[in-house]
Amino acid sequence: PERAVDPARLEEDPADGALRPQTLADFTGQQASRENLSIFIAAARQRGEALDHVLLHGPPGLGKTTLAQIVSRELGVGFRATSGPVIQRAGDLAAILTNLQPRDVLFIDEIHRLQPAIEEILYPAMEDFQLDLIIGEGPAARSVRIDLPPFTLVAATTRAGLLATPLRDRFGIPLRLVFYTPEELVRIVARGADKLGFALSTDGAMEIARRARGTPRIAGRLLRRVRDFASMTVPSGEAVRAEVVDAALQRLEVDSLGLDGMDRRYLRRIAEYHNGGPVGVETLAAALAESRDTLEDVIEPYLIQEGLVLRTSRGRVLGERGWRHLGLVPPPDESA
Ligand code: ADP
Repeated sequence: PERAVDPARLEEDPADGALRPQTLADFTGQQASRENLSIFIAAARQRGEALDHVLLHGPPGLGKTTLAQIVSRELGVGFRATSGPVIQRAGDLAAILTNLQPRDVLFIDEIHRLQPAIEEILYPAMEDFQLDLIIGEGPAARSVRIDLPPFTLVAATTRAGLLATPLRDRFGIPLRLVFYTPEELVRIVARGADKLGFALSTDGAMEIARRARGTPRIAGRLLRRVRDFASMTVPSGEAVRAEVVDAALQRLEVDSLGLDGMDRRYLRRIAEYHNGGPVGVETLAAALAESRDTLEDVIEPYLIQEGLVLRTSRGRVLGERGWRHLGLVPPPDESA
């Protein structure tokens, strides 16, 4: 079953991006990244050059794809999107690169999943706008060098730590996206409700924001689910209040902090089977029948950011807040 609070894109999420902000000024939150981008974009435009390559890293659903599109729009250049796992052969990447117009933005999502052989082709392309290809096989094989138009690679990854250093070093503009504050999410939710023509009260927007795990994609999804719920329970024309939001989200088993059954199982596992930890991530993944990647990319980042779980060198430890959220009392600290 799909989790309402999954930060990754789900089938039910609209692909049209009707709620996507279109300009940097329209984009709420990520102030440091926005300021950086706006300075670099202005400079590139003034010089008439391609913008330096941009690496966006951070958890899913925080706006990496959205920002990449905004960058191309603000530069007034074309936008081409692909992703690491989609590029299977050198020829796939070559076809994309040779078809770019000067100064275009090429967006590669999940760049950490690019095959090493393809990464090698990317290096000279990024650095010198040159493509070195081997044409043919055996004794007839020869290498050719193709000049590329200057372009901007905007790459996204959930974990910059997985990138090879030579690749990471080729991005002149590395930007780390952070979880949104509840205040930023309120603005995003209120705007989204407006665009959907959905009458949501301020306290209703706040309730969604608080439970959206710092993630606009989740905020948008909860907003649509609440709207569906309200359309059956609230007379049309009446603003939807926090109590209705709460009822809708309770039915989705999304609790006051935005945690669902999966998160609570994760926390309870550490509490009940490991006395609060430390416990290795592999052990937890096996016990919960999830992959380690899912735990690290999808489930843990928000729990760690909220202090519910701590990541230590010896494994995961349930934080004081985690115990309290479960309604349990932490065991006395033996080391104290
Ligand atoms: P990522 O590429 O990081 O997974 P996306 O750019 O696809 O995230 O954004 C996920 C969803 O959240 C999109 O529907 C987008 O419209 C919305 N979104 C992201 N950032 C913002 C923002 N700052 N303001 C409003 N909506 C946003």
